[in-house]
This record gives sequence, C-alpha cells and structure tokens, in this order.
Amino acid sequence: MSTQNGSNSALLRVQNLKKHFPVGSGFLSRNKAMLKAVDGINFEIETGKTYGLVGESGCGKSTTAKLILHLEEPTEGTFFFEGQDATEFNREGMRNYKASVQAVFQDPWASLNPRMRVGGIIGEPLEVNSTMTKGAIKSRVGDLLEEVGLQQYQANLFPHEFSGGQRQRIGVARALALNPKLIILDEPVSALDVSIRAQIMNLLEDLQDEHNLTYLLIAHHLATVRYMCDKVGVMYLGRIVEEAETEELYDNPLHPYTRALMSAALPSHPDIDREEIILTGEVPSPVNPPEGCHFHPRCPSRFEPCEDNAPVESHPVPDHRVVCHLY
Ligand code: SF4
Repeated sequence: MSTQNGSNSALLRVQNLKKHFPVGSGFLSRNKAMLKAVDGINFEIETGKTYGLVGESGCGKSTTAKLILHLEEPTEGTFFFEGQDATEFNREGMRNYKASVQAVFQDPWASLNPRMRVGGIIGEPLEVNSTMTKGAIKSRVGDLLEEVGLQQYQANLFPHEFSGGQRQRIGVARALALNPKLIILDEPVSALDVSIRAQIMNLLEDLQDEHNLTYLLIAHHLATVRYMCDKVGVMYLGRIVEEAETEELYDNPLHPYTRALMSAALPSHPDIDREEIILTGEVPSPVNPPEGCHFHPRCPSRFEPCEDNAPVESHPVPDHRVVCHLY
C-alpha cells in the first residue's frame, strides 16, 4: 500500500487507523455490535500541503479529525507526526503535539465562547500553554487579529459583535496562536455565505504560504476541496475508496462512488463528456455494512464479484489508488 512505508517529507502519516464504537445493549462488550466509524485508513500529508478528506456525512471524516486531534483514541492502527508515533507520546510529547496540531471548526458561532472577549478567546491557548506575560499575550493577540484581516481594537469586542465570516477569522487567529504545524480544517467554510467562502479560503491559503502550514481539510463540498487541496481521499463507510492528486482525481475519477459524487456536484458542461449519475438509496449503516464491496447496493457499475468479495486496493494509474473490482 502506498502509504505503509511513507515518504520522508510526510508531516502526518496515518496507518491502518480504526475507530469502532460499541453500540446496542449487550451486557458484555464482546457481544455488542460495533459501529465502524473509521475502518482502516491510510494516508499521509507532506509538509506545507493540503490533503482533503471528502465524502457524505457519516463516512468517518470527522471521526478521523477527532482521532488526529486526540479527542478520540484509536481502536487499532496509529499515526505518525514528524516520524513519531503520536499514539505513544509521553506527557511532554503530547503537550508539544497538541500545540503543533490545531483545528478550525465548521460553526464559528458554536466554537467561540459568547461570554469571552475576543482577545481572551485568541489569547487563551497562550495563557494555558506558554509562559508569556499578559502584555506579551496582548501584543501577540493584536498581531494575530491583523494577520487574519481584523483590527487590534476588536480584541475588546464579544463574538456576537462580528459577522459569520469575521467569527471564522477569529477561529483561525486562535488556531494560529501557538504557531502550529498542522491545522485540521473541519468544514471551515460550509456554514458561511457563498460570498464569504472565497475570502476565508484565500486567507487560509495566504497563511499557509506565509507559515508553511500543513492542512487536513475535512469537507463535503467538492468545489472547496478542489480549490484548496493538493491531494484528496474519498471516504465511504469508514474507508478511503479512492485517492489521487486533486487534478488527477477531478479529471479522471475512477471509483463509481467518486464519479457519482462528482457528477452530482459538477453538472455536465457541454464540453465535458460526463453523465450525471444519480445515486439511489441511503448510505448503509456502518454498524452493519453490506458484504463484499460496501458500496455495491448503490453502485451503478456493480457486477458479479461485488456482492460477495471485498475489493482490494489497486493503482491503475501511478499515484492514484482505488478500491474497486473494476480495476
Ligand atoms: Fe461498484 Fe463493484 Fe466497484 Fe464496488 S467493487 S464500486 S460495487 S464496481
């Protein structure tokens, strides 16, 4: 598998990562059904690059974000940060990791404490994790506000005094406070007006260039992913079913699920020979995923082996992996 050995420049390398949650009422944990939210994923992100995880809601992309933020512990598998196993850090290693890996969430309204002034919100990580004086924190907060396109005096205001786009800028400033290396962007623009989205995406790109930041972008909006990402993994029922460099994936989607997602999101242009594929049926439950290929009940291309045999990963095109019997 392409990511098992990993490349030397990978900041983050995820290896066979799984998160299974027990569900139901069985008394003994071994009798309980398991919800396989993340079920053996592999990917890596090179320093300074943006990797996108895309898929319908419930596909496991947000659980992946929580695992990497150490908000959940993996059931199996691991991930490496700067070559170190991030599931085996000691206390100091974990403290450094948590400073180096920050997040920006979808809903800037819900993620900002409405009773705190913005200066306190942005400065909080510095108060908790650094030995900076109050004056130094105030000065740093002012710099961060300017860096995200706000003004220093706005540190004295409360979150409700800002627009949605400005609130997301505050969330970005807070994420930057500790000079992180990796930022997890969990649907960072999907709650914003379309007119504001491009501004926030441009801001994130400018900050990435300036600070050599690495991003993991979690999104369901394919246009956002295409705009921001260098490489994209498509998730379905807890697994990555296809991965390629962004332009390769959008120009040459191989997996029937990716093709369906893209045809629904990008209606056919007269010059592009791509039929719109309508997916039928709901996403199956990750508690009882279908036998064989998990996608077979909804797949317009399914054929004889798909119902009974799970497909394995192949590389029909260099640096383009897909999990499907067609290849
Ligand atoms: Fe469709 Fe079969 Fe490929 Fe699954 S393995 S995506 S059912 S063609």
